Amino acid sequence: MAIVVQKYGGTSVGTIDKIKNVAKRVAKRKEQGDNVVVVVSAMGKTTDILLGMAEDISANPDRRELDMLMSTGEQVSISLLSIALKELGCDSISLTGVQAGILTKGFHTKARITDIEIENVKKYISEDRVVVVAGFQGVDEEGNITTLGRGGSDTTAVALAAKLGAVCEIYTDVDGIYTVDPRLFSTARKLDEISYEEMVEMASLGSGVMETRSIEIAQRFNVPIYVALSTEEWPGTYIKEFDELMETKVITGLSVCDDDIMITINHVPYTVNNISMIFQKLALNDINIDMISQTAPSHGYINISFTAPQSDKFLIDRVLEDVKNKLKGIEVDVEEDITKLSVVGIGMKSQSGVAAKMFKIFADNNIEFKQVTTSEIRISYTINTDDKEKAVVAVAKEFNL
Ligand code: ADP
Ligand code: ASP
Ligand code: MG
Repeated sequence: MAIVVQKYGGTSVGTIDKIKNVAKRVAKRKEQGDNVVVVVSAMGKTTDILLGMAEDISANPDRRELDMLMSTGEQVSISLLSIALKELGCDSISLTGVQAGILTKGFHTKARITDIEIENVKKYISEDRVVVVAGFQGVDEEGNITTLGRGGSDTTAVALAAKLGAVCEIYTDVDGIYTVDPRLFSTARKLDEISYEEMVEMASLGSGVMETRSIEIAQRFNVPIYVALSTEEWPGTYIKEFDELMETKVITGLSVCDDDIMITINHVPYTVNNISMIFQKLALNDINIDMISQTAPSHGYINISFTAPQSDKFLIDRVLEDVKNKLKGIEVDVEEDITKLSVVGIGMKSQSGVAAKMFKIFADNNIEFKQVTTSEIRISYTINTDDKEKAVVAVAKEFNL
């Protein structure tokens, strides 16, 4: 019997009725002859609510305790789903991340899976039970509960599928991967398939439908992923290795990210050591820097700008205080209302002119940008959030997305 790992996201298990509906789908799949491992997220907005409670107590809650707190969300949904499955006569067992053998390393609230001790899960599969695993959580070497970063249930599902040699099905509130988030551009097209390479870029650039790390794992272990609607049988999108038969337009998708802030440090005495010191301190705090730009030296000084996740603001402020103490006379400016808009496409490897087209779109629509970065298959621009809608529509129309 084949093993399938199915993942249901927060909205899809947001109410008791929805959990019962998921149970029906899972039980049906089991009856059809597949072994099913189900990964679930916390119900609805539970994780946000839990975080809010901690933030009502502290501006910088202890990260170990945050993991302990957030992991309870998934524990509620796994137990309820397992109860619903048993009610349908489908034998099942719920497992926390620890019980499912999900081993992690790294910082609390953004730990990484290092391995899965899969024996327990396999044992229950061999007993013909549906195994319901809590997404988003694992355990570190000291036995602490960890979480994998927001949206991390996707990663749990793909990692389990990789370990079990299974296919991975991600069920959510949208019927597949679209060229642009349909909430931002309602006439966006649904893709039948997309390559891992493009999906990694789109996910990391703000297309939150899939969590970035999950696609990296899928690519590394060649796990086929199918993304589809959790409520109806309706064709979704396959995420897989690129092949020549895939439709290649120059631009496959457009991603938008509002979650970053832009920090500018003005009047930095220009030495390589100073720049290195700033970025070393940020790295030591595991702050993920994205776009970096630097002005040419003038009278021995430079200005440096970089973007980083808003969620790391507290850590960034701490680092900047430290930097201010080391480099007297610098001025720091933090812009919160910025948006990163990126176009992604494997077609860019072989076709030029995308950057020129983008500059023209921005010029024609009076949109100013602050930074540009490129890779082989993407170009990203930082713009003012006020210009977001105008920019998305203009770019999507120009590239027929
Ligand atoms: P889940 O709770 O199931 O994990 P998410 O909220 O994480 O669901 O992801 C689904 C959402 O991702 C959709 O509601 C959609 O608005 C958003 N999204 C962003 N970019 C895209 C895209 N390119 N294609 C489809 N959905 C997208
Ligand atoms: N519940 C977690 C979150 O809201 C994990 C997930 O949904 O994938 O981020
Ligand atoms: Mg998600």
